[in-house]
Amino acid sequence: MESCLMIDLQYNLDKLNEKINNALIKAGRKNEPIRLVAVTKTVSVDLINTSIDFGIKDIGENKVQEIQNKYENVKKPVKWHMIGHLQTNKVKAVISKVDLIHSVDSIRLMEEINGQAAQLGKIMEILIQVNISGEVSKFGINKYDIWEFFERIGQLHNVHIAGLMTIAPFAPEQSRLVFAQLYKLFVDIKSKNYDNVTMEYLSMGMTNDFEAAILEGANVLRIGAGIFGARQYL
Ligand SMILES: *Cc1c(COP(=O)(O)O)cnc(C)c1O
Repeated sequence: MESCLMIDLQYNLDKLNEKINNALIKAGRKNEPIRLVAVTKTVSVDLINTSIDFGIKDIGENKVQEIQNKYENVKKPVKWHMIGHLQTNKVKAVISKVDLIHSVDSIRLMEEINGQAAQLGKIMEILIQVNISGEVSKFGINKYDIWEFFERIGQLHNVHIAGLMTIAPFAPEQSRLVFAQLYKLFVDIKSKNYDNVTMEYLSMGMTNDFEAAILEGANVLRIGAGIFGARQYL
């Protein structure tokens, strides 16, 4: 069984990398770096460890509880990403463990992250999650409300805004339009040179829409099923 899983993983990763490279070529972005976050929700610690042996450098979880459960048992060097909705009262539980929080969607959450990071003497890198399409996804801030984050961040010294994240709607034909809009916002913010803000990461694209995301400028992909197979929720 174990070797079976390993063969699948190698095959899936090879296939994925090939598709990523093809999409980069199509986008005229050949050899540009892509940060691949392997989304490990519901994936066992053993399989996570194996994936790291196969070259995975970043893993993403969407639940605080799952990070807490797995963290100590993933013994190999890897960067952890919080990609799911984060409640302010759970920030303390993950702040020392994660490298990048993709899902910051309120000023209050950003302030709490800043406070907890200050206690650790850490500067936490965050992305602002934007809900471009409005009605489709529950989380993420409205694109018109994003500017207040950049006003506030100047006074927060233990948090750094490193880019934007979005989750596209389920209909693939709408995804590309959403990604294009987020890219536009990304470029717009970049041009403003806010203190304590670098538009370095554009986190968009999952198993079913990462090629469209690459065509529209994504440089961080969050991919679960495309690496580990369809999730088995128990
Ligand atoms: C689960 C999840 C992903 C990965 O989804 P797949 O379809 O398995 O690639 C990406 N981003 C977020 C926020 C997720 O919760």
